[in-house]
Amino acid sequence: MKKNVVVIGYGGQGAWHADHALKSDVVALRGVYDIKEERNELAASRGIRAYSSLDEICSDPEAEICVVATPNDVHEEIVVRLLRSGHNVICEKPVALSVESFDRMAAAARESGKLFTVHQNRRWDVDFMAIREIVQSGRIGEPINIESRIHGSRGIPSDWRCHKQYGGGMILDWGVHLIDQILQIVPQKITKIYCETTHITTDEVDDGFKLLLTFENGVRALVEVGTYNFLPLPRFYLQAKKGTALITDWRQNARVAYCKAWHESDVLPVQTAAGITKTMAPRDSITLDEYDWTRPTSDVHDFYRNLVAAIDGKAEPIVTLPEVRRVLRVMEEAFNSAASGAAIPVSV
Ligand code: NAD
Repeated sequence: MKKNVVVIGYGGQGAWHADHALKSDVVALRGVYDIKEERNELAASRGIRAYSSLDEICSDPEAEICVVATPNDVHEEIVVRLLRSGHNVICEKPVALSVESFDRMAAAARESGKLFTVHQNRRWDVDFMAIREIVQSGRIGEPINIESRIHGSRGIPSDWRCHKQYGGGMILDWGVHLIDQILQIVPQKITKIYCETTHITTDEVDDGFKLLLTFENGVRALVEVGTYNFLPLPRFYLQAKKGTALITDWRQNARVAYCKAWHESDVLPVQTAAGITKTMAPRDSITLDEYDWTRPTSDVHDFYRNLVAAIDGKAEPIVTLPEVRRVLRVMEEAFNSAASGAAIPVSV
């Protein structure tokens, strides 16, 4: 039997959840609720039941899974009310604006005994999955440095995302995805966090950032989001002990270079204006194998399939609360670092 889903906040992402539920093999759409009457009217015009209030959802025992897709600043109050009224809850990312706020939500989940998880749907992005596969396969050895970037050129969206009070800014909007992905690739503890934010199009929130994470095993990760980059840098760049992997664009496959012999007898120098260089000359096929990594297969609807199995006690949730909390800790320290200009020693 499909489980009933109710979506709170019928905006861009809420409509994605509602459409998904209409097509899903494991959940069915029971209704939506938005604080704006015109959004409820739109839902009704599409043949979707529109609840008149959050209270009405709270008192509906048939609302088995509630999805919170409102702006970030009101996640906590809505999630806690839903959990306390006995509902399973999926909250959109970023789940909360602080670790403290998240801890109150997690406590409500514990007390209710209901399932609570966060829609970290970029765990199903094939670019990230390819880099994680390459690292976990050990094919090019242990990682040294991972760079994960998203570069856009349209500034920050002009809705609530450009206002601090609603939880706007790119650390909270995209950073939460990219940090979550990096922590899935490198499970070791982080020992140092350094972050610089950009304010090219607005002073109120960050419209981009560069975040450097140092892990206890020496691995370094750079997470960068830009919204004023008319020529983007590659999506992923991975340096490992025996090679390099590169994803230029998230629609492209990962390109892998495996160094099969470190020493070379003959190096063909490269001519530059200032003279020749052997140090920076490219390698040839005698010492380097280059190939495309097979594109991983992905179905983002596995998020809901897993959730339903978890509610039925047949699986553990893929996105766990300790993982979510760790990402929030990193974002909090990123804000602290950006405000102070200092690298922050941490144990996260
Ligand atoms: P949006 O502005 O398009 O939609 C938000 C909707 O929530 C609006 O219709 C608004 O009227 C409604 N709303 C506001 N306060 C409410 C309340 N108290 N009760 C009920 N409804 C309320 O925003 P969006 O882009 O859909 O983002 C919503 C959430 O989804 C955010 O947390 C965002 O970060 C997240 N999101 C996630 C992804 C993803 O890929 N996981 C993508 C986009 C947005």
